[in-house]
Amino acid sequence: MADRDGFIWFDGELVPWRDARVHVLTHTLHYGTGVFEGVRAYETADGPAIFKMKEHTDRLFRSAHIMQMKIPFTKEQINAGHLEAIRANNLPSAYLRPMVFFGSEAMGLRAANLQVHVIVAAWEWPAYMSPEALELGIKVRTSSYNRHHVNIAMTKAKTNGGYTNSMLALNEALACGADEALLLDTEGYVSEGSGENFFMIREGKLYTPELTSCLDGITRRTIMQLAKDDLGLEVIEKRITRDEVYVADEAFFTGTAAEVTPIRELDNRAIGEGRRGPITEQLQSLYFQVVCGEQPKYADWLTLAR
Ligand code: PMP
Repeated sequence: MADRDGFIWFDGELVPWRDARVHVLTHTLHYGTGVFEGVRAYETADGPAIFKMKEHTDRLFRSAHIMQMKIPFTKEQINAGHLEAIRANNLPSAYLRPMVFFGSEAMGLRAANLQVHVIVAAWEWPAYMSPEALELGIKVRTSSYNRHHVNIAMTKAKTNGGYTNSMLALNEALACGADEALLLDTEGYVSEGSGENFFMIREGKLYTPELTSCLDGITRRTIMQLAKDDLGLEVIEKRITRDEVYVADEAFFTGTAAEVTPIRELDNRAIGEGRRGPITEQLQSLYFQVVCGEQPKYADWLTLAR
């Protein structure tokens, strides 16, 4: 990733990709106190457009607030950085990675006067999992790792350190031949994937876990709104057990990177027909229409980067 042409927005300036470096004593590298976002821009008829940029930047600032990191830029400046990163790299579509981190001014947990830095990188990243995953669905395994307890890590903040839990769970799932992990909360109820929110469908109703231990996903909110307003589905937020998933008619993950990824199997049990279900397919195709600017009703969710 480091050795390529292009530019990264780094503390307010576009820096050549190869020069966007930090010191090995960068505080966030040691202790994981940093916050970040994953944002996507899609190719639309009017050029690349960022989906729900305002919502992502708002969450970035909320995460920083929780972690008591003071971002030395306004939301408007960070948003402008997103647009600059797309334009400078000439990207028709992009995955964007804004990150807020502490510098290398001091070491140790008691370090004071650390500087807060911000980057926004952008590159092309078409399919998060395999290209077939969106069509065929994926195999998922319940993780032996629990999702964060609310009093261990801050589940409303998207923190760098929080992802050690995601990496443990994902690597375990991959090593067991699955494509993704389903993490339960510390009480044993379904929480989320390593980088996605979870949904299931039973008897025509859409279910998703309450937000207690999972990230307040922007795709999650989008899908809940599309399901209610466009498909007329009842959407229920509740505690879900893993065996409720085994007997669900359909299930899928949502996330900026993963988009709407159908789940065809959990713990070697087929979900429904063992392939992408009809309601999942409807929601997925509506989602892609919305993000690609083909649903005028939701045009204000897009920010053109041209
Ligand atoms: N949960 C976790 C742990 C994630 O990393 C992500 C990806 N940001 C999500 C859920 C989905 O969030 P969003 O739809 O905002 O990308």
